[in-house]
Amino acid sequence: MINLSILGSTGSIGKNACWVANNFPEKFSVKALTASTSIKALADQIAAFKPEMAVVRDREQAQKLSALVGNKTCRIDYGPDGYAKAASLPGVDTVISATVGAAGLVPTLAAVDAGKTVALANKEALVMAGGLVMERARLSGARILPIDSEHSAIFQCLAGHNRDELSRIWLTASGGPFLNTPVEDFASITPEMALAHPNWDMGAKISIDSATMMNKGLEVIEAKWLFDLKNEQIAVLVHPQSIVHSMVEYLDGSVIAQMGRPDMRCAIAYAMSFPKRLALPVPPLDFYRTAPLTFMPPDTGKFPCLALAFDALERAQTCPAVLNAANEAAVEAFLNKKIAFLQIPHIVSLALDAHRPGSGRNLADILDADAWARKFAAKTVTK
Ligand code: MG
Repeated sequence: MINLSILGSTGSIGKNACWVANNFPEKFSVKALTASTSIKALADQIAAFKPEMAVVRDREQAQKLSALVGNKTCRIDYGPDGYAKAASLPGVDTVISATVGAAGLVPTLAAVDAGKTVALANKEALVMAGGLVMERARLSGARILPIDSEHSAIFQCLAGHNRDELSRIWLTASGGPFLNTPVEDFASITPEMALAHPNWDMGAKISIDSATMMNKGLEVIEAKWLFDLKNEQIAVLVHPQSIVHSMVEYLDGSVIAQMGRPDMRCAIAYAMSFPKRLALPVPPLDFYRTAPLTFMPPDTGKFPCLALAFDALERAQTCPAVLNAANEAAVEAFLNKKIAFLQIPHIVSLALDAHRPGSGRNLADILDADAWARKFAAKTVTK
């Protein structure tokens, strides 16, 4: 039995992790669930899984939740301390870190420090603080398993091979909904248009990141830390069919790819049950009916966010944290129709140029940079 703590259980990844747990009750037991403000959805999950504890954003949300589920079924906690408790709950084997955005960093660190197996969907933790998170995982013995489909693919392509024979990785990208949209039309992109992803069913923030290709940029930084790569060992490849989830190239020119349907449940289940595979009730990939697989280089002129992420990676220190925070603020402003689509990369670029980087070696440094970038972005949005 694998005891789970699911952080961000009412989001897109969290719901799918619950689906996996629900399909394999003999393998998984859910001990803790956390959400922000989706109280009704969380109450339903509590009824289904009967966890030991549930955590929400603040006291008000906690009161709403206990009104729905009562106090007897499970312990209800709230706020940053509550999230950290859920992430380090004794008896939990695997923590699924699926909180959206920078808010996932501190609970992810709590799980890492507690030596848990961390099934990581919250890429922001590694983007903001990759060096710190990996160093603390080394100290505590925590194992970090990727949930992001590309990183799960690379993880699978590395298995059974000599790490020192790797020459580079190919991160594939669908290209998002605007791959074939002429750049002249980018100015009139609305949130509704950007939220309609062709292949993947995801939450709002990551759908916008996918439309700007910032998602791939964040994944480049995530991959660097997760697999201990040099910047020049990471290549991005547009693959609109999203069948090849990523590849690893070895010194002899051999390339190993991992393929599957674009279904997040596969990568989630793999991280949850590693090193075993689960017999998932999903249809297999049908090569007789698969469209031709095509590949092309990314167009960073059209998608400057990808170039900005490589730039932040080169600048290092607290720059990736600034990239992430400015982007989060800009995406939120775009979703609220305060700025246009093209202003997202513009704001991120201004923030990177205006930032005076700190070392990025401690949490305070990183959280300062994050707060600074949000303030900077907010000021730029108002202008
Ligand atoms: Mg991904």
